[in-house]
Amino acid sequence: MTIATFGVRGEKLAPHTSLRIGGPADYFVRVASEKDLVGAIRVAREHELPVFVLGGGTNLLVADDGIRGVVLQNGWREAAADGTTIEASSGTELAHVAAVAAKAGIVGLEWMATVPGTVGGAVHGNAGAFGTETADVLVDADLMDLNGDTWLAPAAELGYAYRTSKLQGTPTICVRARFRGTAGDRATVVRRIKEMANERMKKQPLAQPNTGSIFRNPPGDHAGRLIEAAGLKGRRVGGAMVSEKHANFIVNTGDASADDVRALMDICQDEVQERFGVRLVPEVELVGEW
Ligand SMILES: Cc1cc2nc3c(=O)[nH]c(=O)nc-3n(C[C@H](O)[C@H](O)[C@H](O)COP(=O)(O)OP(=O)(O)OC[C@H]3O[C@@H](n4cnc5c(N)ncnc54)[C@H](O)[C@@H]3O)c2cc1C
Repeated sequence: MTIATFGVRGEKLAPHTSLRIGGPADYFVRVASEKDLVGAIRVAREHELPVFVLGGGTNLLVADDGIRGVVLQNGWREAAADGTTIEASSGTELAHVAAVAAKAGIVGLEWMATVPGTVGGAVHGNAGAFGTETADVLVDADLMDLNGDTWLAPAAELGYAYRTSKLQGTPTICVRARFRGTAGDRATVVRRIKEMANERMKKQPLAQPNTGSIFRNPPGDHAGRLIEAAGLKGRRVGGAMVSEKHANFIVNTGDASADDVRALMDICQDEVQERFGVRLVPEVELVGEW
Protein backbone atom coordinates (compact mmCIF):
# COMPACT_ATOMS: atom_id res chain seq x y z
CA MET A 1 0.00 0.00 0.00
CA THR A 2 1.40 3.42 -0.98
CA ILE A 3 -0.03 6.94 -0.69
CA ALA A 4 -0.99 6.81 -4.39
CA THR A 5 -3.25 3.82 -3.78
CA PHE A 6 -4.27 4.91 -0.31
CA GLY A 7 -8.05 4.60 -0.17
CA VAL A 8 -10.55 7.15 -1.41
CA ARG A 9 -9.99 10.92 -1.19
CA GLY A 10 -12.82 13.03 0.21
CA GLU A 11 -15.19 10.14 0.95
CA LYS A 12 -18.31 11.45 2.74
CA LEU A 13 -18.62 9.82 6.14
CA ALA A 14 -22.41 10.14 6.52
CA PRO A 15 -23.14 6.73 4.92
CA HIS A 16 -20.63 5.13 7.28
CA THR A 17 -22.36 6.29 10.48
CA SER A 18 -25.63 5.10 12.01
CA LEU A 19 -26.81 8.72 12.30
CA ARG A 20 -26.16 9.23 8.56
CA ILE A 21 -24.30 12.48 9.27
CA GLY A 22 -20.72 13.58 8.64
CA GLY A 23 -18.54 15.40 6.11
CA PRO A 24 -15.57 14.04 4.16
CA ALA A 25 -12.42 12.24 5.26
CA ASP A 26 -9.21 13.40 3.57
CA TYR A 27 -8.35 9.72 3.05
CA PHE A 28 -10.81 6.87 3.63
CA VAL A 29 -9.30 3.40 3.80
CA ARG A 30 -11.26 0.23 4.44
CA VAL A 31 -9.16 -2.51 6.02
CA ALA A 32 -10.23 -6.14 5.95
CA SER A 33 -7.33 -7.96 7.61
CA GLU A 34 -4.63 -7.48 10.21
CA LYS A 35 -2.12 -7.01 7.40
CA ASP A 36 -4.25 -4.20 5.90
CA LEU A 37 -4.61 -2.55 9.29
CA VAL A 38 -0.89 -2.61 10.06
CA GLY A 39 -0.05 -1.52 6.47
CA ALA A 40 -2.45 1.43 6.59
CA ILE A 41 -1.05 2.61 9.91
CA ARG A 42 2.44 2.43 8.43
CA VAL A 43 1.52 4.52 5.35
CA ALA A 44 -0.22 7.11 7.57
CA ARG A 45 2.86 7.29 9.79
CA GLU A 46 5.23 7.68 6.82
CA HIS A 47 3.14 10.63 5.59
CA GLU A 48 2.55 12.07 9.07
CA LEU A 49 -1.19 11.83 8.66
CA PRO A 50 -3.45 11.66 11.73
CA VAL A 51 -5.46 8.42 12.02
CA PHE A 52 -9.04 7.91 13.13
CA VAL A 53 -10.28 4.33 13.45
CA LEU A 54 -13.92 3.97 12.46
CA GLY A 55 -15.73 0.88 13.69
CA GLY A 56 -19.43 0.64 13.00
CA GLY A 57 -19.84 4.42 13.32
CA THR A 58 -22.62 3.82 15.85
CA ASN A 59 -21.43 6.13 18.64
CA LEU A 60 -20.31 9.13 16.63
CA LEU A 61 -21.33 12.62 15.69
CA VAL A 62 -18.99 13.42 12.81
CA ALA A 63 -18.60 17.15 12.05
CA ASP A 64 -20.08 18.56 8.83
CA ASP A 65 -16.53 19.53 7.80
CA GLY A 66 -15.44 15.92 8.21
CA ILE A 67 -12.23 14.43 9.57
CA ARG A 68 -8.70 15.48 8.59
CA GLY A 69 -6.11 12.83 7.84
CA VAL A 70 -6.94 9.16 7.46
CA VAL A 71 -10.14 7.42 8.45
CA LEU A 72 -9.54 3.66 8.70
CA GLN A 73 -12.79 1.79 8.46
CA ASN A 74 -12.29 -1.47 10.25
CA GLY A 75 -13.91 -4.26 8.26
CA TRP A 76 -11.65 -7.03 9.60
CA ARG A 77 -14.11 -9.62 10.82
CA GLU A 78 -12.98 -12.90 12.39
CA ALA A 79 -14.25 -14.66 15.51
CA ALA A 80 -13.80 -18.15 16.92
CA ALA A 81 -14.68 -19.95 20.13
CA ASP A 82 -12.15 -21.91 22.19
CA GLY A 83 -13.81 -23.54 25.20
CA THR A 84 -15.76 -20.72 26.84
CA THR A 85 -13.61 -17.97 25.37
CA ILE A 86 -14.18 -16.11 22.11
CA GLU A 87 -11.34 -14.44 20.28
CA ALA A 88 -12.43 -11.77 17.82
CA SER A 89 -10.71 -9.28 15.55
CA SER A 90 -11.49 -5.66 16.30
CA GLY A 91 -13.66 -5.13 13.22
CA THR A 92 -16.03 -7.97 14.13
CA GLU A 93 -19.57 -6.80 14.90
CA LEU A 94 -20.55 -7.49 18.50
CA ALA A 95 -23.63 -9.24 17.12
CA HIS A 96 -21.35 -11.71 15.35
CA VAL A 97 -19.48 -12.40 18.61
CA ALA A 98 -22.87 -13.13 20.22
CA ALA A 99 -23.79 -15.44 17.34
CA VAL A 100 -20.52 -17.40 17.61
CA ALA A 101 -21.07 -17.68 21.38
CA ALA A 102 -24.64 -18.89 20.87
CA LYS A 103 -23.52 -21.54 18.42
CA ALA A 104 -20.89 -22.77 20.88
CA GLY A 105 -23.37 -22.75 23.80
CA ILE A 106 -21.47 -20.01 25.62
CA VAL A 107 -23.62 -18.01 28.04
CA GLY A 108 -23.05 -14.39 29.14
CA LEU A 109 -22.47 -12.58 25.84
CA GLU A 110 -26.13 -12.42 24.74
CA TRP A 111 -26.32 -8.65 25.37
CA MET A 112 -23.78 -8.18 22.56
CA ALA A 113 -26.38 -9.27 20.04
CA THR A 114 -28.31 -6.06 20.66
CA VAL A 115 -25.49 -3.50 20.79
CA PRO A 116 -24.48 -2.26 17.35
CA GLY A 117 -20.86 -1.62 16.44
CA THR A 118 -17.61 -3.52 16.54
CA VAL A 119 -15.36 -5.19 19.08
CA GLY A 120 -12.91 -2.26 18.79
CA GLY A 121 -15.60 0.30 19.56
CA ALA A 122 -16.81 -1.73 22.56
CA VAL A 123 -13.30 -2.20 23.99
CA HIS A 124 -12.66 1.54 23.50
CA GLY A 125 -15.90 2.75 25.11
CA ASN A 126 -16.85 -0.10 27.50
CA ALA A 127 -20.14 -0.71 25.72
CA GLY A 128 -22.75 -2.57 27.70
CA ALA A 129 -26.42 -3.44 27.98
CA PHE A 130 -28.86 -5.34 30.17
CA GLY A 131 -26.63 -5.07 33.23
CA THR A 132 -23.39 -6.33 31.66
CA GLU A 133 -20.61 -4.29 30.12
CA THR A 134 -17.47 -5.03 28.13
CA ALA A 135 -15.29 -4.78 31.26
CA ASP A 136 -17.21 -7.72 32.82
CA VAL A 137 -16.52 -10.15 29.99
CA LEU A 138 -13.25 -8.96 28.45
CA VAL A 139 -10.25 -11.14 29.26
CA ASP A 140 -7.64 -9.09 27.43
CA ALA A 141 -6.98 -7.16 24.23
CA ASP A 142 -4.11 -6.86 21.78
CA LEU A 143 -3.38 -3.15 21.38
CA MET A 144 -1.25 -1.19 18.93
CA ASP A 145 0.10 2.35 18.85
CA LEU A 146 0.65 4.46 15.75
CA ASN A 147 4.30 3.33 15.58
CA GLY A 148 2.97 -0.17 14.97
CA ASP A 149 4.16 -1.42 18.39
CA THR A 150 1.81 -3.99 19.93
CA TRP A 151 1.19 -5.30 23.44
CA LEU A 152 -1.29 -7.41 25.36
CA ALA A 153 -3.43 -5.58 27.94
CA PRO A 154 -5.49 -7.48 30.52
CA ALA A 155 -8.97 -5.93 31.01
CA ALA A 156 -8.01 -4.82 34.54
CA GLU A 157 -5.41 -2.47 33.06
CA LEU A 158 -7.83 -0.62 30.80
CA GLY A 159 -9.24 1.72 33.46
CA TYR A 160 -12.85 0.74 32.83
CA ALA A 161 -15.77 2.60 34.38
CA TYR A 162 -19.28 3.39 33.07
CA ARG A 163 -18.82 3.91 29.30
CA THR A 164 -15.20 4.96 29.77
CA SER A 165 -11.73 3.48 29.40
CA LYS A 166 -8.12 4.58 29.42
CA LEU A 167 -8.11 4.19 25.64
CA GLN A 168 -10.42 7.16 25.08
CA GLY A 169 -8.59 10.30 24.06
CA THR A 170 -5.52 8.27 23.02
CA PRO A 171 -4.54 6.99 19.56
CA THR A 172 -4.28 3.41 20.87
CA ILE A 173 -5.88 0.89 18.53
CA CYS A 174 -7.56 -2.33 19.59
CA VAL A 175 -6.35 -5.08 17.25
CA ARG A 176 -8.25 -8.04 18.71
CA ALA A 177 -9.89 -9.08 21.96
CA ARG A 178 -10.83 -12.13 23.97
CA PHE A 179 -14.15 -12.43 25.78
CA ARG A 180 -15.16 -14.96 28.37
CA GLY A 181 -18.51 -16.60 29.01
CA THR A 182 -19.62 -19.73 30.81
CA ALA A 183 -20.70 -23.09 29.51
CA GLY A 184 -24.44 -23.30 28.88
CA ASP A 185 -26.90 -24.41 26.30
CA ARG A 186 -27.65 -22.92 22.95
CA ALA A 187 -31.44 -22.79 23.31
CA THR A 188 -31.22 -20.63 26.46
CA VAL A 189 -28.81 -18.25 24.76
CA VAL A 190 -31.03 -17.90 21.68
CA ARG A 191 -34.13 -17.30 23.84
CA ARG A 192 -32.38 -14.55 25.85
CA ILE A 193 -31.17 -12.83 22.69
CA LYS A 194 -34.74 -12.78 21.34
CA GLU A 195 -36.10 -11.34 24.61
CA MET A 196 -33.46 -8.61 24.65
CA ALA A 197 -34.03 -7.71 21.00
CA ASN A 198 -37.80 -7.49 21.55
CA GLU A 199 -37.34 -5.22 24.54
CA ARG A 200 -35.20 -2.86 22.44
CA MET A 201 -37.66 -2.79 19.57
CA LYS A 202 -40.37 -1.71 22.00
CA LYS A 203 -38.38 1.09 23.62
CA GLN A 204 -35.99 2.50 21.02
CA PRO A 205 -36.58 4.38 17.74
CA LEU A 206 -34.64 1.84 15.70
CA ALA A 207 -36.38 2.69 12.41
CA GLN A 208 -34.82 6.17 12.25
CA PRO A 209 -31.09 6.95 11.96
CA ASN A 210 -29.71 7.49 15.47
CA THR A 211 -26.58 6.93 17.48
CA GLY A 212 -27.92 5.19 20.57
CA SER A 213 -28.01 7.07 23.85
CA ILE A 214 -26.92 10.64 23.30
CA PHE A 215 -26.09 11.29 26.97
CA ARG A 216 -24.73 9.11 29.75
CA ASN A 217 -27.10 8.40 32.59
CA PRO A 218 -26.24 10.61 35.56
CA PRO A 219 -25.67 8.74 38.85
CA GLY A 220 -28.96 7.32 40.15
CA ASP A 221 -31.07 8.69 37.29
CA HIS A 222 -31.76 8.35 33.57
CA ALA A 223 -30.87 10.97 30.98
CA GLY A 224 -34.03 10.06 29.03
CA ARG A 225 -36.26 10.66 32.07
CA LEU A 226 -34.72 14.10 32.66
CA ILE A 227 -34.98 15.17 29.00
CA GLU A 228 -38.60 13.99 28.86
CA ALA A 229 -39.44 15.74 32.15
CA ALA A 230 -37.96 18.95 30.70
CA GLY A 231 -40.61 18.71 27.97
CA LEU A 232 -38.12 18.13 25.19
CA LYS A 233 -39.57 15.06 23.46
CA GLY A 234 -40.20 15.98 19.82
CA ARG A 235 -38.04 19.15 20.03
CA ARG A 236 -36.31 19.88 16.72
CA VAL A 237 -33.37 21.81 15.36
CA GLY A 238 -33.31 21.58 11.56
CA GLY A 239 -33.57 17.89 10.70
CA ALA A 240 -32.57 16.67 14.18
CA MET A 241 -35.27 15.71 16.66
CA VAL A 242 -35.45 14.38 20.21
CA SER A 243 -37.19 11.04 19.65
CA GLU A 244 -40.85 10.82 20.68
CA LYS A 245 -40.23 7.17 21.56
CA HIS A 246 -37.14 7.55 23.80
CA ALA A 247 -35.98 11.00 24.90
CA ASN A 248 -32.30 10.02 25.17
CA PHE A 249 -32.21 9.37 21.42
CA ILE A 250 -31.76 12.12 18.85
CA VAL A 251 -32.93 10.98 15.43
CA ASN A 252 -32.07 12.26 11.98
CA THR A 253 -35.44 12.90 10.31
CA GLY A 254 -33.80 13.10 6.88
CA ASP A 255 -31.53 16.07 6.33
CA ALA A 256 -30.02 16.80 9.75
CA SER A 257 -26.54 18.30 9.89
CA ALA A 258 -24.01 17.66 12.64
CA ASP A 259 -24.49 21.29 13.68
CA ASP A 260 -28.26 20.65 14.08
CA VAL A 261 -27.59 17.67 16.37
CA ARG A 262 -25.02 19.59 18.35
CA ALA A 263 -27.37 22.57 18.82
CA LEU A 264 -30.13 20.20 19.97
CA MET A 265 -27.73 18.55 22.43
CA ASP A 266 -26.88 22.00 23.82
CA ILE A 267 -30.58 22.75 24.31
CA CYS A 268 -31.08 19.45 26.16
CA GLN A 269 -28.08 20.10 28.39
CA ASP A 270 -29.09 23.69 29.17
CA GLU A 271 -32.77 23.00 29.83
CA VAL A 272 -32.10 19.92 31.98
CA GLN A 273 -29.51 21.88 33.96
CA GLU A 274 -31.84 24.81 34.46
CA ARG A 275 -34.73 22.62 35.63
CA PHE A 276 -32.95 19.90 37.58
CA GLY A 277 -29.41 21.18 38.25
CA VAL A 278 -27.85 18.22 36.40
CA ARG A 279 -25.35 18.75 33.55
CA LEU A 280 -25.76 15.85 31.13
CA VAL A 281 -22.52 14.42 29.75
CA PRO A 282 -22.52 13.24 26.10
CA GLU A 283 -22.14 9.50 25.51
CA VAL A 284 -21.82 10.05 21.75
CA GLU A 285 -18.32 11.11 20.65
CA LEU A 286 -18.05 14.37 18.73
CA VAL A 287 -15.26 13.90 16.22
CA GLY A 288 -13.68 15.79 13.32
CA GLU A 289 -13.31 19.42 12.39
CA TRP A 290 -15.85 21.57 14.28
C1 LIG B 1 -29.48 1.81 18.06
C2 LIG B 1 -28.27 1.92 18.92
C3 LIG B 1 -28.27 1.34 20.18
C4 LIG B 1 -27.14 1.40 21.00
N1 LIG B 1 -27.18 0.80 22.22
C5 LIG B 1 -26.07 0.81 22.99
C6 LIG B 1 -26.07 0.13 24.24
O1 LIG B 1 -27.04 -0.47 24.66
N2 LIG B 1 -24.95 0.17 24.98
C7 LIG B 1 -23.82 0.82 24.55
O2 LIG B 1 -22.82 0.80 25.27
N3 LIG B 1 -23.80 1.48 23.38
C8 LIG B 1 -24.90 1.48 22.59
N4 LIG B 1 -24.87 2.14 21.39
C9 LIG B 1 -23.66 2.87 20.99
C10 LIG B 1 -22.65 2.02 20.21
O3 LIG B 1 -23.26 0.87 19.72
C11 LIG B 1 -21.47 1.61 21.08
O4 LIG B 1 -20.88 2.75 21.65
C12 LIG B 1 -20.43 0.83 20.26
O5 LIG B 1 -19.52 0.22 21.15
C13 LIG B 1 -19.67 1.69 19.27
O6 LIG B 1 -18.88 0.82 18.47
P1 LIG B 1 -18.48 1.22 16.99
O7 LIG B 1 -17.66 0.12 16.43
O8 LIG B 1 -19.66 1.61 16.20
O9 LIG B 1 -17.56 2.49 17.26
P2 LIG B 1 -17.52 3.85 16.44
O10 LIG B 1 -18.80 4.58 16.66
O11 LIG B 1 -17.11 3.60 15.04
O12 LIG B 1 -16.36 4.61 17.21
C14 LIG B 1 -16.52 4.99 18.56
C15 LIG B 1 -15.13 5.25 19.14
O13 LIG B 1 -14.44 4.00 19.22
C16 LIG B 1 -13.18 4.12 18.59
N5 LIG B 1 -12.80 2.85 17.97
C17 LIG B 1 -13.50 2.10 17.09
N6 LIG B 1 -12.81 1.01 16.75
C18 LIG B 1 -11.64 1.06 17.45
C19 LIG B 1 -10.49 0.23 17.52
N7 LIG B 1 -10.37 -0.90 16.80
N8 LIG B 1 -9.50 0.60 18.35
C20 LIG B 1 -9.57 1.74 19.08
N9 LIG B 1 -10.62 2.57 19.04
C21 LIG B 1 -11.64 2.23 18.23
C22 LIG B 1 -13.39 5.19 17.52
O14 LIG B 1 -12.15 5.75 17.08
C23 LIG B 1 -14.26 6.17 18.29
O15 LIG B 1 -13.46 6.98 19.11
C24 LIG B 1 -25.97 2.08 20.55
C25 LIG B 1 -25.96 2.65 19.26
C26 LIG B 1 -27.08 2.56 18.45
C27 LIG B 1 -27.04 3.16 17.08
